[in-house]
Amino acid sequence: MPRLLDDGACGKVPRMTTTFDDFKLAPGIRRAITDLGFEKPTPVQMRVIPFLMQDTRDLVALAQTGTGKTAAYGLPVLHRTVPSNRLTQTLILCPTRELCVQIARDLNAFAAHTKGLSIQAVYGGAPIDAQMRALEKGAHIIVATPGRMLDMIRRKRADLSHVSHVVLDEADEMLNMGFQEELEAILKTGPKGMLTLLFSATMPRQVAVIAGRYMNAPEEITVGERNSGSDTVSHEYYVVHARDRYAALKRIIDVYPAIYGIVFCRTRLETQDVASRLLGDGYNADALHGDLTQAQRDRVLGSFRTRHLQLLVATDVAARGLDVTDLTHAINFSLPAEAAQYTHRSGRTGRAGKSGISVVIIHTREEHKISMLEQVIKKKFTRKQVPSGREVCGAQLHGLLERVKQVEVDEAEIAPYLEQIEGILSERLATDVLKRFVALEFNRFLAYYKDAPDLNVTRTAESERRQGGPVRDRDSRHMTGFIVNLGDRNGLQPGELISLINRAARGPVFNIGRIQIDQDRSYFEASGGDPRILTECPSLPSYKGRLMAIRTFEPERANRPPPSRRGPRRDRPHAP
Ligand code: ADP
Ligand code: MG
Repeated sequence: MPRLLDDGACGKVPRMTTTFDDFKLAPGIRRAITDLGFEKPTPVQMRVIPFLMQDTRDLVALAQTGTGKTAAYGLPVLHRTVPSNRLTQTLILCPTRELCVQIARDLNAFAAHTKGLSIQAVYGGAPIDAQMRALEKGAHIIVATPGRMLDMIRRKRADLSHVSHVVLDEADEMLNMGFQEELEAILKTGPKGMLTLLFSATMPRQVAVIAGRYMNAPEEITVGERNSGSDTVSHEYYVVHARDRYAALKRIIDVYPAIYGIVFCRTRLETQDVASRLLGDGYNADALHGDLTQAQRDRVLGSFRTRHLQLLVATDVAARGLDVTDLTHAINFSLPAEAAQYTHRSGRTGRAGKSGISVVIIHTREEHKISMLEQVIKKKFTRKQVPSGREVCGAQLHGLLERVKQVEVDEAEIAPYLEQIEGILSERLATDVLKRFVALEFNRFLAYYKDAPDLNVTRTAESERRQGGPVRDRDSRHMTGFIVNLGDRNGLQPGELISLINRAARGPVFNIGRIQIDQDRSYFEASGGDPRILTECPSLPSYKGRLMAIRTFEPERANRPPPSRRGPRRDRPHAP
């Protein structure tokens, strides 16, 4: 795994005054940046652009979403492109069609004043013929999804023999989506000396594997903490019973009348279900998932981008690369399978310096997952109470009155109707008229939330612990037994096992008791921490190339020694 240096340790910390002028980019590119209104480089641009302008080495760059990675590689790549050379010089790989289109669009904007440059986007889910014809005309830069790109290479429609740079954008997501084989096949096709530039928000093991296998002593640039959430995002969670999830979602939405956000679901089915319930309940929402036709996707995305749609209910894959910068909320209706994915979801909000809220709705048995997420994002969550019916109505009323205050009255247009209006309403008192207008807009909420139940779950021991309240002393003496898939055959020593456990738990969380190393497995006892920190750890470490796996004993066996507890028995062919 490449060693990643944090900001300060790199020795190449840019001066605070770095401007776009310092990069010595071609004048046309410099002008395009001004046109786009970019005033100064973002932190990742300050580090990556000078490196790519000078060095001829591989690069691994880690930075959160929304930090300007496209320009970080895009500007130097465009600067290096020679338009008179008709061959493909750069290949950019990214996970989704939307991202392809967006990157190509960004690069074209950066190249607005550069003549004779051809940038082609090549992606699945669209007819291949038109893309093949476009490539035939020549493309200096190809922006592609891995599957379609490999297809083009195999059909001999793309010639990578003169590519000097390949960019893996959102490498973590490409691997998440199962593009590992395609990526490896494409990387093998590139010419000797081709440089690989890998960009990622997170650094899961799979990414490190690709970096180790296909990159040559890469320079490593990390901006911000690895896997950490953006600073402008606050993280909040609500605990409800599983059956109340949807009702809680509605209240959270209702309490923010100006909400503009994405509701993340885990499956297409769930996405469809939540979206149609929201639609049925009168919300301005729609679904985005993989079962939609391209035309449907474009329509949904279009109306969301232009804010005609307030809520997008989406799966992770479908929401990838969506370049909407000012979401107020990212709502986790259900948590992602991988903790790293949470960083992506919450990174959809709080972009470009604006503040955003990442909301997690969990049911009672998921509370431990919040501690795991806190470890991954290195930030604290705030537990929030699901708003009561009264609070929702208050917030809605406030929203309505704000709109009343801000509405522009077109005096000329309204004048002809005034007499009629006064004739009807003159009998009534002004306060009565006001009440009636509010009621007209507002009765739906009053009726719905009349007698609305409290959805909050009474605090569990876990939440009391988190809030500094009384703690049920569950761990101080009780030892849990664990089985690990590594043993003597792997050369594992007790000291190494302890350090693996501490790495998995991200610190010396557990008091480790007895350890026993068998041929193929090991056993240990531990106390002082929630066993799920280990058994549900999102990224277990590897030992000598083998990924660690941990499980506990069955509860009824937890306090009994495993059958072979009496000492290491190297003659045993099978552990229990
Ligand atoms: P990432 O790939 O890191 O998620 P993007 O490259 O998509 O981020 O950039 C996020 C947003 O920030 C885009 O809308 C982009 O136009 C904008 N942006 C990028 N660099 C700058 C800059 N230097 N100044 C202002 N806005 C920028
Ligand atoms: Mg990007």
